[in-house]
Amino acid sequence: MERKPSLVQLNCQEVSRLLSDQQDEVLPVADRARLRLHLVMCATCRNVSEQMDFLRRAMRQIDRERPDE
Ligand SMILES: [Zn+2]
Repeated sequence: MERKPSLVQLNCQEVSRLLSDQQDEVLPVADRARLRLHLVMCATCRNVSEQMDFLRRAMRQIDRERPDE
């Protein structure tokens, strides 16, 4: 039996989409809450999230170190 996506719970695919969305834009509070909820329960997405955070921080670091053009 296939599980329908509920309003509360996201599946991993939706989570990875939200994670990449939030790189560029601030997510609505509801999305952020659902994202956090999923991350609490899902180690796979937690890893993805941590990697994205790491990459984002690394990119910021590079931006900061780059001299003004
Ligand atoms: Zn997941």
